[in-house]
Amino acid sequence: MAQKIYLNGKLVPREDARISVFDHGLLYGDGVFEGIRVYNGRVFRLSQHLDRLYDSARAIALKIPLTKKEMEEAVIQTLRANSLKNGYIRLVVTRGEGDLGLDPRNCGKPAVFIIADKIELYPAEWYKKGLELVIVATKRNIPEAIDPGIKSLNYLNNILAKIEASLQNMPEAVMLNKEGYVAECTGDNIFIVEENVLVTPPFYVGILAGITRQAVMELAREKLGLLVREEAFTRLHLYNADECFLTGTAAEVIPVVKIDGRKIAEGKPGKITTRLIKEFRDLTRKEGTKI
Ligand code: PMP
Repeated sequence: MAQKIYLNGKLVPREDARISVFDHGLLYGDGVFEGIRVYNGRVFRLSQHLDRLYDSARAIALKIPLTKKEMEEAVIQTLRANSLKNGYIRLVVTRGEGDLGLDPRNCGKPAVFIIADKIELYPAEWYKKGLELVIVATKRNIPEAIDPGIKSLNYLNNILAKIEASLQNMPEAVMLNKEGYVAECTGDNIFIVEENVLVTPPFYVGILAGITRQAVMELAREKLGLLVREEAFTRLHLYNADECFLTGTAAEVIPVVKIDGRKIAEGKPGKITTRLIKEFRDLTRKEGTKI
């Protein structure tokens, strides 16, 4: 079946889903987006993703031309049109078509498009063996410039960090903030376990408020009975952690076993990490908005 893309209120074949070269999303990265998963015909935490999308849009003074309810329906409509029960949704709102100047006031209506696609899962082996990370020189954007809490189309900060990691044949990069505190990875949040306490960087360090991060903090408290702290920590804590893992919509929960050539504990996925992987999988299979 041919793929259908939602574009400004219509479902169009993939070949016809086109955006102007004058769209400021393309010219300036002026826009916002979301990445959302659908599991067994249920959209995982759709309302939280939409809240984040609308908050990001508000932060850049972009008025989305649909209500949240209409957007929710558009997502579901796109999934139905593609008969997709398991996959990944990319929801994008751009500033729209303008002229070559920066001024958003010269743009017409924001463009809204939704792509529902199969997800390219990370190799199963990564979840069993764990990832190796490097801390890169590129710092996470400072909140006073572009707040990392805004999920904008301007991902060059993360891409630069990703390039640094790739040049070292590493699958992911850890980004520090300007003060040297651990922020997050290029597309995932980071957690460590220190003496049975789960620790993750707080928002003020400069991170995206991950939906998976939130779900994992809830699971750790409610299902594992763990203490969870949002606390700033340096790379020393990463090296000396008992466990480390990443969270994200695409990655779900993925163990980290080595950072900058140092093994995390014994260099194997930790016990708490392994339990959280399972709890998160279970949660995604039972929760969510039905298509
Ligand atoms: N940090 C960054 C920079 C991201 O791009 C993402 C993925 N959207 C995340 C963290 C994880 O967020 P979520 O769990 O909502 O996918």
